[in-house]
Amino acid sequence: MFGKLANFLHSILDSPNGDTRRPVVNGHFESNIPGLFVIGDLAGAPVVKLAMAQGSQVAEHIAAQPDAKAASASGDPNRFDLLVIGAGASGLNAALGAQEHGLRVIVLEKNRIANTIEDFPEGKWIYAEPESMPPVGKLWLEGASKEDLLARWGQAISEHHLEVRTDEGVTGLTRRKDGGFEIRTDGRAYLATRVVLATGQRGNARKLNVPGEDRENVHHRLYSPKHYKDEEILVVGGGNSAVEAALALAEQNRVTLSYRGPEFTRVFKDNRRKLAAAVESSHIRVIFRSQVKHFDDGTSALEVEEGGVTPVRQVKYDRAFVLIGAEAPAEFLRSLGLGLEGDWTGNPLLAAALVIATFVALWYLGAGYLAGGVLAAASFGSLVYLGVRGSRFAWLGVTFAIAYTIYGVKQAANFEYWPFRGWGAHAFAFFGRPWSFWYTVLYTLVMTVFGIQAMKRWGIDKHDRFQVWRYVSLIGFQWLFFFLIPEFLFQYAVQYQWVGHKLATDPTFAGQAWRSYGLIYAWPLFFYTFLDSPNQVWIVWGALLAFVIIPVLVLFHGKRYCSWICGCGGLAETLGDRWRHLAPKGKTARQWESMNTVVLWAAVVVTILLLGRDAVTYFRKPAGVGAEYYHLFADVWLVGILPVSLYPFFGGKVWCRYWCPLAKFMQILSALYTRWGVSRFAIQSNDKCIACGECSRNCQVGIDVMQFALKQEELNNANTCCIGCGICVTVCPMDVLSFTAARSDSKLVQIA
Ligand SMILES: Cc1cc2nc3c(=O)[nH]c(=O)nc-3n(C[C@H](O)[C@H](O)[C@H](O)COP(=O)(O)OP(=O)(O)OC[C@H]3O[C@@H](n4cnc5c(N)ncnc54)[C@H](O)[C@@H]3O)c2cc1C
Ligand code: SF4
Ligand code: SF4
Repeated sequence: MFGKLANFLHSILDSPNGDTRRPVVNGHFESNIPGLFVIGDLAGAPVVKLAMAQGSQVAEHIAAQPDAKAASASGDPNRFDLLVIGAGASGLNAALGAQEHGLRVIVLEKNRIANTIEDFPEGKWIYAEPESMPPVGKLWLEGASKEDLLARWGQAISEHHLEVRTDEGVTGLTRRKDGGFEIRTDGRAYLATRVVLATGQRGNARKLNVPGEDRENVHHRLYSPKHYKDEEILVVGGGNSAVEAALALAEQNRVTLSYRGPEFTRVFKDNRRKLAAAVESSHIRVIFRSQVKHFDDGTSALEVEEGGVTPVRQVKYDRAFVLIGAEAPAEFLRSLGLGLEGDWTGNPLLAAALVIATFVALWYLGAGYLAGGVLAAASFGSLVYLGVRGSRFAWLGVTFAIAYTIYGVKQAANFEYWPFRGWGAHAFAFFGRPWSFWYTVLYTLVMTVFGIQAMKRWGIDKHDRFQVWRYVSLIGFQWLFFFLIPEFLFQYAVQYQWVGHKLATDPTFAGQAWRSYGLIYAWPLFFYTFLDSPNQVWIVWGALLAFVIIPVLVLFHGKRYCSWICGCGGLAETLGDRWRHLAPKGKTARQWESMNTVVLWAAVVVTILLLGRDAVTYFRKPAGVGAEYYHLFADVWLVGILPVSLYPFFGGKVWCRYWCPLAKFMQILSALYTRWGVSRFAIQSNDKCIACGECSRNCQVGIDVMQFALKQEELNNANTCCIGCGICVTVCPMDVLSFTAARSDSKLVQIA
């Protein structure tokens, strides 16, 4: 029972990014260990040009430090100013850059120079994307074959006399008392003032871990397919590298491709087409749902799932290639002491105890004991202290305490939540304005400040006008419709009769500024528009918005309401933006999305009960109870306390993705339009995806965009909960993704 619960909690807590977690670094790529920098693929640079750029930046930063040349100045021949681990694009550029600034530098490389690129098959073309950015640093880069590129890099290394020690993998490092590092390889140790870790993500080929896998004729890489002729070859794997290997080997050999899945879901469209042709012409035999159990001399045993049974088949082979991807280097990184994003650290029970202690102390404060205030400050201060010392559970406690206080106090006077009941609303009212007003001010300011930051990050820095306009829209809607109108303009409109004499003097309109939230918030997110004897204007507008404007918007823009207009989504896109990569990923995370169906149904039922309670006496009691619970669960906990507490841990879109009934309503509409062939919203891909994963990583609703890109399959609201934020399009270094124009088979286009 407890084991199951623990596994369930584990599956939730660990869902963001799984094994692909990156080390936590600051703006200068410095990790949690001062003096240890992480760059390149490992720090999120998905292509050679960006990896090179990070190398140059880190070299500039290190060279600018006052003690940058302390080791070389000491004259000690055994000490280096900078030791770079990994001779790939980023590491080499960092080393060359630092050396140019006069630092004493050494590079340690586990295999060969630029091993990742060396490992690509012969003649592979290296794209020099993104085109809009020039290459920086001492390494040469243009679109070229891998052989040309590597020859140029070799030349640069010898011309600049850079010391690179190959076949010398780093196994560990320790920070010394003098602030420098001792770096260990098998058999040697080095001393350096600073270390740059540039080991990439592709280092360790994943293994099957079955008997016989260490035989000489079982390989984990394919370098040169042309070297093999007239052999029985077994290829194991279901990704592009396995399929490409099988295709190349099939030109001169008899190839069997074993894959454990029922179909190839992660393979380029072009590769799938070529594979189908090769299977058709009997050049390749594919065995789906098969798992290698062991490799023997000349035969391998494959367990094949067939109609519920799993017989073992013997497959002849002269040579086998196991191409099932690379191991994430998470364990190696942790062994160095690096903090990885999303790692749960600290003591959860201690964090929970401190949160409870904070609120109990606040309760005493509310009862008039001033010591309660001191105790609350001490408990909360301890939480923050533990957080600063590295406890992630303590930060969760901090964010929960803040969010709960904000929403607990925001209730009407004497209806505040424990421990604020009876005193919170009064204590948090400033300058004659209630806390709900200051909450709106705070919300708007936070959205503005973090919105401008996000606009700079995605729009201005990346020269992306779509993102600039998106953030202008989000901030603009917040200021006008969720702050200025309800707090000021509505009152002026009534006072100066901008809405006409009749409305301005109608008590069902004039005294109800809160209804102006319904100008933008549509049913079922804001069903209060239709409740408590509203003026007819609100009923007409509410119905028009929910049942005409929103459906038309969805037809053309899918769920862009969530990423361009809505205030809830707006806070997620601005304050929550820095944690967007932590959105839960994977199958379980997607299954949780069905929770918003439950909330949508609850909203429908409560609306019907409330609207019908005057006519049907039987509805009265359930209507009251339903409205109370819906308010408590949906309007307070699910939209406010929980998602805001979880921003730094699961990204900003917890409410929008899992619980918002309006998002679900739009999802249903958009999926229907897509199925009917009339939707004008989708994302399409070209064939240039290099599987870097940046799009999937940055999708704040956890969509595995890369899988769509690899298959060049259209991404829409029939197959995902995409909200059209366009961040995947913006971050893709290969310009693979784009929003589609209208579908060619759409009826609307035919009419046009
Ligand atoms: C199939 C595929 C196709 C691609 N095509 C392109 C393309 O066309 N254009 C493009 O721009 N990008 C492409 N990429 C991405 C590109 O390869 C990477 O972005 C780039 O290599 C990252 O550089 P890096 O320096 O961070 O890491 P890497 O190039 O991976 O270099 C890391 C180095 O560190 C070494 N190392 C690892 N562990 C240790 C250790 N413990 N001690 C010492 N050394 C160690 C490794 O042996 C390796 O040499 C492609 C990637 C793949 C997988
Ligand atoms: S798939 Fe792309 S556009 Fe859609 S929500 Fe994710 S990042 Fe935004
Ligand atoms: S589509 Fe995604 S995985 Fe493919 S290159 Fe672009 S960002 Fe990388």
